[in-house]
Amino acid sequence: MATERTFSIIKPDATRRNLTGRINAKFEEAGLRIVAQRRAHLTQAQAEAFYGVHRERPFFGGLVTFMTSGPVVLQVLEGEDAVAANRRIMGATNPANAEPGTIRKEFAEDIEANSVHGSDSAENAATEIAFFFKPEDIVG
Ligand code: ATP
Ligand code: MG
Repeated sequence: MATERTFSIIKPDATRRNLTGRINAKFEEAGLRIVAQRRAHLTQAQAEAFYGVHRERPFFGGLVTFMTSGPVVLQVLEGEDAVAANRRIMGATNPANAEPGTIRKEFAEDIEANSVHGSDSAENAATEIAFFFKPEDIVG
């Protein structure tokens, strides 16, 4: 296994409930390092572009409305096998199916307001990181 980076978003349902620190503790306790972090309010255009792969899905409009409903925290996480490690820490998309101890099991409200995003491949992680961060703003 090699050190790699993944992209993470703490979603509006979690910032609204002031859960940023408790979610970050989950990443750090599992060995991931937060090497870049910025609070932002996504524009509709940013949210539509970011989730563009889901454009034809029935939940797309609701997802964009949700992702622009409040502040998010944009992050780059670094560590061993970071993409897969973060997906394990997050838990299943639907919190009803998430493992105990995962972020989504403990904090998600429902399948849409599920508290965190995490890249699903190393290739997508690189694209997503570049969408939001300049190289000099990532400090490993
Ligand atoms: P993410 O991409 O946010 O890390 P994921 O990879 O687990 O989550 P995706 O299938 O990529 O899940 O869906 C992207 C996001 O769209 C989900 O995290 C969730 O917020 C929302 N979503 C997915 N499926 C549904 C659904 N059936 N109804 C409502 N919202 C959904
Ligand atoms: Mg996804």
